[in-house]
Amino acid sequence: MKTIHSAKKAQTFKDNLQARGYKSTQQRNRIFEIFAQINHSISADEFYRQVKKRLPRIGFATVYRTLKLLERNGLASKLFLNDGLARYQPSFAKHKEAFFFCEQCSVVQKIDQKELELWFEPLVDNKKYSIRNYRLEINGLCSSCKQTLA
Ligand SMILES: [Zn+2]
Repeated sequence: MKTIHSAKKAQTFKDNLQARGYKSTQQRNRIFEIFAQINHSISADEFYRQVKKRLPRIGFATVYRTLKLLERNGLASKLFLNDGLARYQPSFAKHKEAFFFCEQCSVVQKIDQKELELWFEPLVDNKKYSIRNYRLEINGLCSSCKQTLA
């Protein structure tokens, strides 16, 4: 079932780009399929390693160009954490991600979704917003750095 779903997503990439006059190549389509299966953000390097597992002869430049093509056409969104590393994810994915980035030791921690959504309650309660997706980055000191520097 997961496969059907991502095949559909990959088709969305293809249709979108064809409508904009981009050629559809078999290699590009394979990359779309692999990207469509990603359900979290991923760096270009990580993505390249995943593609290479299935297309062993592919070069980084090809993978990167395809990623950029998706990004330019709004099919991949780019996320910057404070470590300066760009991460990508399919832009039709439901984003419900929040990260804490420690400025001292550079650790990146995913913030618990339930805990985080408690913060949203005031926004939702007064009917100001209906929240579907979010991406959030918070900087500061992690608990161990906080203790060390205290
Ligand atoms: Zn830290």
